[in-house]
Amino acid sequence: MKSKVFNLPQVGEVLIYKHHNAKHLSIKLRPNEPPKVVIPMLMTYSMGFRFAVEKTNWIIKHAKILKEKKDASPRYTNESVIVTRFHKIQIGRHKAAHVGSKKEGDLITVIFPETTDITGEQNQKLLMKFVTGVLRTEAKAYLPKRTQWMADKFGFTINDIRVKNLKSRWGSCSSKNNINLNIHLMRLPEHLSDFVILHELCHTVHRNHGTQFHALLNKLCRNEKALNKELKKYSTQY
Ligand SMILES: [Zn+2]
Repeated sequence: MKSKVFNLPQVGEVLIYKHHNAKHLSIKLRPNEPPKVVIPMLMTYSMGFRFAVEKTNWIIKHAKILKEKKDASPRYTNESVIVTRFHKIQIGRHKAAHVGSKKEGDLITVIFPETTDITGEQNQKLLMKFVTGVLRTEAKAYLPKRTQWMADKFGFTINDIRVKNLKSRWGSCSSKNNINLNIHLMRLPEHLSDFVILHELCHTVHRNHGTQFHALLNKLCRNEKALNKELKKYSTQY
């Protein structure tokens, strides 16, 4: 992933993203995601960031409009089924006045009182918290083991593996070979989360996204381009 994260005052994280088809600079906004500045390959990341700085007011204004639109259409409805790697989460109803949950095999039901409107802000937050909890539990149980297994298989040396609820990235690798992985990888099919893990493992050998990095990653995953394209269909947010 040819991108870099910068911190823009008043906005927060922005992603500067190099794209081989980009002829000029553009900004892409999606609800609940950090703004993306798309730049041509030959531009530097800091040129992209400077563009974001110049467009701060535009970003704030349009992010607000997007958020208002998004808030008007709730994320979870009575019909929502949230699919994670190991579970399906659905909404149920009961006569009691409290919110509960039950688990039968891989099916988890979050149960609300019959009259509760789950599209309200409070309940949307509650559901998001619940889904985050499921993702975190799955991620803790699965990602470190899987990463260690892949590291052993391909001969990489890693230090520590941590799982986090990251906003804009699927993963990262520190100079000490600590690997951070997003709990939202648990919403991806296994071959794509393996691809992200492999990407970070390759960073233990090549720190940047240079030719050698891509050569190594491509050798191990066989088709980096197609996998990257598939990965872009998913968002690191819910
Ligand atoms: Zn990378």
